[in-house]
Amino acid sequence: MILENLVRPNILHLKPYRSARQDYLDGILLDANENAYGSPISISGVELHRYPDPYQTKLRERLAAMHNVDAENVFVGAGSDEVIDLLFRIFCEPLYDNVVIPEPTYGMYRVSANIHNVPVRRSLLKDDFQLDTKDIVNRITEKTKIIFCCSPNNPTGNSISEKDILRLCTSGEVLVVVDEAYVEFAESPSLTSRITDYPNLVVMRTLSKSWGMAGIRLGYCIAHPAIIDFFLKVKAPYNVNSVSAKLALEALDAFAEREKIITTIRNERKRLMHRLSSMTCVREVFPSDANFVLVRVYDAGDLYSKLIQRGIIIRNRSNEPKLQNCIRITVGTPEENDALLSAMEDIQV
Ligand code: PMP
Repeated sequence: MILENLVRPNILHLKPYRSARQDYLDGILLDANENAYGSPISISGVELHRYPDPYQTKLRERLAAMHNVDAENVFVGAGSDEVIDLLFRIFCEPLYDNVVIPEPTYGMYRVSANIHNVPVRRSLLKDDFQLDTKDIVNRITEKTKIIFCCSPNNPTGNSISEKDILRLCTSGEVLVVVDEAYVEFAESPSLTSRITDYPNLVVMRTLSKSWGMAGIRLGYCIAHPAIIDFFLKVKAPYNVNSVSAKLALEALDAFAEREKIITTIRNERKRLMHRLSSMTCVREVFPSDANFVLVRVYDAGDLYSKLIQRGIIIRNRSNEPKLQNCIRITVGTPEENDALLSAMEDIQV
């Protein structure tokens, strides 16, 4: 793959903004029009009045060590949603290039394509919610820049076959973006270790799910350094704020705590699925490798509004292809799950 053929010509030739903190992080810093007198409030360990490190070196090194890759393989953004947005900005010429999205899946790939005026070529997942690789490959044109895969997939909950994803990586001159937002809840391994074998593979991860840090907006991707360089070139100068970066580093040290929570969520998922499958209003509980469960009921709209009346909010996914009368339920705390289960039992009577 020749990466330069995939990058938009204006980005290939872009002279990026050079921010002050790119040159110096210490010294008598009179170069960035910051407020030298400090900020009116303080947070321990964060210099609130200074711009953050534009390259987030510490955080990238920490994430790289965790994934057994180099810091040059890691880009950090304000949530994986920023990573998705940058993918379009770097690779997709509006009204010209296209992307392939196997649906139903996470809606932001399509929304981001729409924002950037990039045509979407849709491939439907098979009935088992696996990729229809033959169909995907048929949809690739010379203007296709990205194939999006979400594994485990939102909202279906299943992991996507690794063999199928890797097959797509060898299917042409395209980037294969694998969104692993929920991978820590699955048994299947992450694809992060495969980026050295597949230079067109981009793996997205986030601190929003298993790490429980959705509020700090911290997502990242792991890919070949040449791809990461384009992210660094195009991103806003200080895209990750210093408070989020500090909290992310703290969270990453609490690995054992996170593991405990993942185990609890998996156990609650199992309990929830077991109870749901015995309810008369439920037609099918789909297998889940994520922290949510997709359930087919008889009347999703009716159930959705009756749960809202009881103060319980779930997601009605009925309008998605192949998901008629399907709802998506996030695994909550044992108390929240009990409330949902008893509300559903109440409703079905
Ligand atoms: N990817 C998937 C598959 C998601 O479901 C979500 C959020 N629901 C995201 C990414 C967004 O992650 P972040 O909070 O890192 O932007």
